[in-house]
Amino acid sequence: MEPRVCLQCQKPIHGRADKKFCDNQCRNEHNNTQNAVSNNYIRKVNRTIKKNRSILEELCPMEKSIKVKKTELSRLGFSFSYFTNTYTTKAEKTYYFCYEYGYLDLGNDYFALVYDNKALTADK
Ligand SMILES: [Zn+2]
Repeated sequence: MEPRVCLQCQKPIHGRADKKFCDNQCRNEHNNTQNAVSNNYIRKVNRTIKKNRSILEELCPMEKSIKVKKTELSRLGFSFSYFTNTYTTKAEKTYYFCYEYGYLDLGNDYFALVYDNKALTADK
């Protein structure tokens, strides 16, 4: 049988078979590290989506849908892999939203940008 070691300090563990840490301090340190890693990741994703939203907000007038080039969005630092939700129309077109601003791939390097004022009142 493999000698069991603490997940935090790697020292051998004695005691119950399901014990993963030598003591509470090691357990807390381990959990704090895990939380910091996932919090950093969440912050990074949130920052990316907020940046996307402000790019869309900058380009897209309210109540109106406009056409922009994909290269223009890329130039401004838009990340196409990050969004908050999607909306698929009956015609099977999928809009990707960053909060209340959405975009739709029109092909040929063009995107349609839309502002959804219903998003602001949706979950009431
Ligand atoms: Zn330990």
